[in-house]
Amino acid sequence: MKNIEPSVITENVARLCIEAATYIENDVLSCLRRAMEREEGLSKEIMQQIIENDELATREHVPMCQDTGITVVFVEIGYDVHINGDLYDAINKGISKGYTEGYLRKSVVKSPLNRVNTKDNTPGIIHVKFVKGDNLKITICPKGAGSENMSKVKMLVPADGIDGIKKFVLETVTEAGGRPCPPLVVGVGIGGDTEKAALIAKESLLRPIDDESDDPDANKLEKELYEMLNKSGVGPMGLGGKTTALAVKVNLYPCHIASLPVAVNIQCHASRHKVVIL
Ligand code: SF4
Repeated sequence: MKNIEPSVITENVARLCIEAATYIENDVLSCLRRAMEREEGLSKEIMQQIIENDELATREHVPMCQDTGITVVFVEIGYDVHINGDLYDAINKGISKGYTEGYLRKSVVKSPLNRVNTKDNTPGIIHVKFVKGDNLKITICPKGAGSENMSKVKMLVPADGIDGIKKFVLETVTEAGGRPCPPLVVGVGIGGDTEKAALIAKESLLRPIDDESDDPDANKLEKELYEMLNKSGVGPMGLGGKTTALAVKVNLYPCHIASLPVAVNIQCHASRHKVVIL
């Protein structure tokens, strides 16, 4: 049994909040550079500016975007881990510390109705999963409203089939246009029920950008959706071009015989997440 002190969790979460806002992962940056090579004219200039912005943020240790997001936290906790305190409290203290010490924008309101800012970006949206082993894996995924607001869940029926899924994904991305700051990483969750589809769509965004699904059907759909979205002409920042999607990730889950839940989670070009394993 591994014992972990809550203070260790807090310190790591605080560090990851700052790093996620500031340093883009190399896989995303490489993908942006490859996309820039394909573009011409205005869309190429936009891609250059996005890349310059990300490089500048890393060099100057400043956030790559003013919207440093609501903090989504994915936790995988081994059955052989014991935390000497409250996991949720430790994570929220880390969010508070990271957003305060990192001078990150505090974007969370206490109630969606009274709209009073909590002033430290807490609480985070915390998802906990139990796994084998004695590790505690924490992934911090700040999510800006521009992209999250464009995400959708729809309860299709089996008769809608693959074509219905494609139509829904294409509609969601084209209706969003430039608002979620494309080029996008598009997470698609298919199956489960309403909340499971939404959750697996968001989880799919944590996969490396070049990663392909192991499931042959999901893999095929990822490739077809990627082609389709990049023919839509939305382009970088919605001003036209060849790159609307940097990647499409499809995650599947079993579902009811009469259901076909589909969720599309839109991630902007600031595709941010950082991981620690304790
Ligand atoms: S959608 Fe992304 S890049 Fe655009 S403002 Fe929001 S966080 Fe920033």
